[in-house]
Amino acid sequence: MTPHTDRRTDRRPHPGPATSPAAPAAAPAPEDVYQDGNVLAGPLSEIFAVDLTAASGRCVGCGNTGPVARLRVYTRAPGLVARCPDCGHVVLRLVRGPDAAWLDLRGSVALRIPLDT
Ligand SMILES: [Zn+2]
Repeated sequence: MTPHTDRRTDRRPHPGPATSPAAPAAAPAPEDVYQDGNVLAGPLSEIFAVDLTAASGRCVGCGNTGPVARLRVYTRAPGLVARCPDCGHVVLRLVRGPDAAWLDLRGSVALRIPLDT
């Protein structure tokens, strides 16, 4: 038994038709919740001596080039999945295990990594 049974009246269905053309856009699906590519800075700094979020990559899917920091990074996966902001193609995957990291770059044509001169 719950002591809050009187709150049930707050949860009655919303009156009126369920289909309203003025209804706000639906919340993004859980799989569409992402952060920008800057979230990759920490995990990638463990592998590379340079900041790869400053690098520019070319997407295999659409051919567009943009900074890694602009990628859409999905963190609700066994690893990090970075997608192209233009076409949604998976550009980069990073999985960190207890003693190794797996970096899958097959969605990138190339990365241009600026270096200190
Ligand atoms: Zn793309």
